[in-house]
Order: sequence, then structure tokens, then C-alpha cells
Amino acid sequence: MSMSPEKITELVAEMEAKIAGLYREFSAHVLPEYPSGEDIRFLERMLTALRQMQEASKTTETCTWEYSEDVTWSWETSCGTSFQFNDGGPIENEFNFCHHCGKRIAINPPQSTQG
Ligand SMILES: [Zn+2]
Repeated sequence: MSMSPEKITELVAEMEAKIAGLYREFSAHVLPEYPSGEDIRFLERMLTALRQMQEASKTTETCTWEYSEDVTWSWETSCGTSFQFNDGGPIENEFNFCHHCGKRIAINPPQSTQG
């Protein structure tokens, strides 16, 4: 799969909007009780596939955690938030995935001041 996560997210949103529109149309004009139809089922299958791709991309992508120089045991994440441990870091606490974006954590070690 060579689709970028941004593109997948965009397609999922587009698909969801399209399906919502079709549901509205069906419930208003065609089947007031239970919206159905091949178009909707086809789009839903595509949406399911896209969601799976979206999930899969999360496990191969990484979120970089960088040790904060300002706050003890605190790490800045590349998805734009931070996490503070009571003790140790992501490795010591067996953190594999980012609490915020769900991607695998890639550790950017603190710069050593001892040469
Ligand atoms: Zn993250």
C-alpha cells in the first residue's frame, strides 16, 4: 500500500460523508424504514477496507518521543503532546505505543552532555 495516512484519512472522511448522504436520500425517498442498496453496501465495503488500512498504517508508522530537558521524566511527542512518567521512560515502563496518536513509539534519546 503506497497511500499516505493523510490521503487515507481524507478518503475515509469523504466516504463517510457520501454514505451519510446516501442514507439520508434513501430514508427520505426510497426506503423510509431501513436504508439499503448496492451503492451503500459497496461504499461501506470500501470504507471498511480504508479503515483497515488506516489502522494498519498506525502500526507501521512511529511517533517520536523526545526527552524533555525542562521537566523530569517528561517526554515530548512528535504528535504534539507530552507524557510524564512517575519514574523512568517509555522503555522502563514498557510503553510501545503513543497514548495520544496510537502509533508505535520511536525514542529519540536525550543528548548526552558528557561527550
Ligand atoms: Zn503520538
